Amino acid sequence: MALRVDVITIFPDYLAPLQLSLLGRAQREGLLEVHVHDLRDWTHDRHRTVDDTPYGGGAGMVMRPEPWGEALDEVCASLPGRTPHVVVPGPGGDVFTQRTAGTMALELDWVVFVCGRYEGIDERVYLEFARRYPLSVLSLGDYVLNGGEVAVLAMTEAIARLLPGMVGNEASLEEESHTGGLLEYPVYTKPASWRGHEVPPVLLSGHHGQIADWRHQQRLERTAARRPDLMQRYREDEDHGDVGRS
Ligand code: SAM
Repeated sequence: MALRVDVITIFPDYLAPLQLSLLGRAQREGLLEVHVHDLRDWTHDRHRTVDDTPYGGGAGMVMRPEPWGEALDEVCASLPGRTPHVVVPGPGGDVFTQRTAGTMALELDWVVFVCGRYEGIDERVYLEFARRYPLSVLSLGDYVLNGGEVAVLAMTEAIARLLPGMVGNEASLEEESHTGGLLEYPVYTKPASWRGHEVPPVLLSGHHGQIADWRHQQRLERTAARRPDLMQRYREDEDHGDVGRS
């Protein structure tokens, strides 16, 4: 079954890149199905209003609950017999990682993304829909974007490339950064010499065992240098015999 992705946003055009490249191909091949909805279609006033001033005062505007309520009522009920996982991108959520992407690719068949803007969405929308559906608030990282759309593009791409049948060379996923707890080793292509920089001789040796050892060593060194936090977790997993389970 294709992974179904619904996105509700006030900027549907922002999601146009979902039709390009590998994601576009995945849709043509029936691995992924994307539907983008304009939140303003569920407003009823002349100005198609989706926001209002915050109770309690303060800067900015807050997204009103009514359009979100109607939109989610309709979109989440649009596939009879199926239950969506509602994902609200937000800087205050659990950080979305490769592990999150892998779990979602394997376990979910329908994700409804809710793109906030302004100061965010009235809290009652979370409460209402968390009562009715599995709902996660997921952050792209510890910084603040203007809206959820960029997060949806990133998350959908990360999830979709892990769908079975999606990436041509499955082995290319196995040694990637964040798989198995380490970053990827450095990669090179032709020419062997470029502006005085030489490709490491071991890669030209044709000796597969030595190349594998060199690459593993590079993964360890690079991870220790750039991401000591990952390295520490890798060593802890190694101590518990968990290495390789990403
Ligand atoms: N006032 C909110 C706060 O401090 O948590 C930030 C609102 S932000 C300007 C508007 C919207 O952008 C959020 O509702 C969310 O949908 C999205 N957003 C911002 N940063 C994000 C992040 N790091 N990850 C995922 N979504 C994010």
